[in-house]
Amino acid sequence: MEYLKAVLNNKQDKEIKYLKILIETGNKLKKNTFKYKNELTKYNTSTKNNIKTKTITSLKFEKKTPIKKIIKPQISKIDTNKSEYTIKKVLSKNNQILIEFNTNITKDYIRFFEKKVKNATQDIYDIKGRFKYAHPTKLEIKGVKQIVIKQEKYNTLRILFEDKYNLKTVYSINKKILKISVLNLNKKYIKKNIVKISKSPKVIKSGQNRIIVIDPGHGGKDVGAVGSKKLYEKVTVFKVSKYLQSILKQRGYKVYLTRTSDRFIKVKNRTILANKKKADIFLSIHANAAHKSRIKEARGIETFFLSPARSERAKRVAAKENKSDMSTMSYSTKTVFLESLNRPRITASQKLAIDIQRNVLFTARNLYKDVLDGGVREGPFWVLVGAQMPSILVELGYISHPVEGKRLYTSKYQKELALGIANGVDSYFAKNP
Ligand SMILES: [Zn+2]
Repeated sequence: MEYLKAVLNNKQDKEIKYLKILIETGNKLKKNTFKYKNELTKYNTSTKNNIKTKTITSLKFEKKTPIKKIIKPQISKIDTNKSEYTIKKVLSKNNQILIEFNTNITKDYIRFFEKKVKNATQDIYDIKGRFKYAHPTKLEIKGVKQIVIKQEKYNTLRILFEDKYNLKTVYSINKKILKISVLNLNKKYIKKNIVKISKSPKVIKSGQNRIIVIDPGHGGKDVGAVGSKKLYEKVTVFKVSKYLQSILKQRGYKVYLTRTSDRFIKVKNRTILANKKKADIFLSIHANAAHKSRIKEARGIETFFLSPARSERAKRVAAKENKSDMSTMSYSTKTVFLESLNRPRITASQKLAIDIQRNVLFTARNLYKDVLDGGVREGPFWVLVGAQMPSILVELGYISHPVEGKRLYTSKYQKELALGIANGVDSYFAKNP
């Protein structure tokens, strides 16, 4: 009763006092005090500007009530449609990881739960929001089997701790910084390694051991699609490809371009490099143009993967992209090749196409909300024929469109598109290791 009075009168100090009494007597009577403890944690984190530790550790021992259902984000102050939220820094230090966001976060954004997986336990922190640059990153704390940070879903950032040992983790928030500490490092593991608690943070990049070949469409005498004022496809796709290369390199990928300058390369030779380098994926970058009669309507981003399917639309786009180099492979050779494509190969390319399309569209809409989703399509693109790895062709937009065409020539938009493709690549590898 005293507690309820305090709640009704909005007397925080009293609420806390009575909550503590409730928990204490509850414990003595061996009653479940979970909800009171949960209440109490609210005060801990709502106090201004102080690092406060939430008592998640103690909650974990009361398995009767599933934690999953109880700790929910109550208010979502982060506008998940925007993705201006970024992760500025991620560090691991001794038994802690620190994540610095570009915005203040509160406990309302965070949902904690434990999960049993095969032979191990996971402590999972889901943070509401879409975080730019949240490509999967592995962190290292000696005494924890693995720690991963990644954009789990469209609007959920996930921080995951996994070990055979049942870890106890706690978190605290100080404005923009989220700190998660592991209280009980796996001692066996540490003993074996003669207590090597890492002093310098070691961030393992997402792209390690992955090889990517980027194919900037067209080049040299083949200018590709042409927009108004002689905007050439070959120019814009080359710039996006260069930005993409630098982002992927930063993330630890090994990256090759089929052309590093404005020169002509036969379509069939583009995949040769990818095969020679034993690339994990092949990305062909293009921009589209519409017939004069459709200049004002045709716009948007679409991603294609190679398949024998021939919809009218895919045929149209494929015909345009295949134009410069139709003679190099006979029709029957191509047909034989297309028929030889097996389902697993087509499916892998389709998955890659879905991840690229979704992420490119998402980042493009960061700048311009009206970017159209042309979707993921399948078609007979000769540039993809011969690639022995999952491969896609992305059409970044219509340079013939009066508005979209101009955007495609700004470095601001080009960078955003490159970032989207890179996020798509990360997302693909995270799901298909
Ligand atoms: Zn093209």
